[in-house]
Amino acid sequence: MKKKILSIALIGAMMLGIVGCGGSAAPEDAADDETTAPEAAEGDTSALTGTEGVLIWGTNAEFEPYEYMEGNDVIGIDAEIADSIAKKLGLTAQVENMDFDAIIPSVQTGKVDIGLAGMTVDEERLNNVNFTDTYVEAGQAIIVKEDSGIKSAADLNGKKIGVQRGTTGDEYVSDEANGVGAASVERFANGPDATQSLITDKIDAVVIDNEPAKKLVENADGLVKLDENLTSEQYAIAVAKDNEALLDAINGALQEMKDNGELQAILDKYLETE
Ligand code: GLN
Repeated sequence: MKKKILSIALIGAMMLGIVGCGGSAAPEDAADDETTAPEAAEGDTSALTGTEGVLIWGTNAEFEPYEYMEGNDVIGIDAEIADSIAKKLGLTAQVENMDFDAIIPSVQTGKVDIGLAGMTVDEERLNNVNFTDTYVEAGQAIIVKEDSGIKSAADLNGKKIGVQRGTTGDEYVSDEANGVGAASVERFANGPDATQSLITDKIDAVVIDNEPAKKLVENADGLVKLDENLTSEQYAIAVAKDNEALLDAINGALQEMKDNGELQAILDKYLETE
């Protein structure tokens, strides 16, 4: 009797093996073999995320060129990175659009698997989430009206400054230790709302990440971005503290994208080269 059970199990295992081989030999899978093989070898990737087969990325899709809407789709640098990482892990990327300051709490509670939102690695956030390796350099820029007379960071003293709520720009301008000297800090849900307020003269300047600042200026009349950056920052992907396996898997995928030029190609597609 024992023997019989064993042989049934063996036949079962063999059948699984055969099915597995047949699947990976299918022509449409051929291109993925190289990238999916290492993760598959490490074990069960279904346990990496909250929902089997899906990588849910939380973002705020008002941050061109990193994430923005085109019709009903979220596109941009981070959208392409999400798709590529998901593919390498044998998952499908699914976006969850929300306010920027809701992203980290959503990662912590498991509403989303990762936060991918042009998000800067900073000390305070590291208390709540882990960050992957970084994938791009950034900094805070200043947007003003063409005729404003504000020519440098020093001229922000005594001015009303608009920021996106909960961002590193908000942090920098709000922290008196940095000596910006704002008369007031007005917090908006996103960059376009802040810029609109600048256009209608309710505020004197907007402080926001450099590449989004370029796009905001491009998409409006009469605004300029100053050359000077206020900070040096690095973007990375936020992962829940208790999901080291996902953190490691994403770092592996990111490294592969760095090594094979894929990441640079995505950045080149969206960022203007100066
Ligand atoms: N890089 C900034 C931050 O992490 C802004 C990100 C964003 O607005 N999407 O706070």
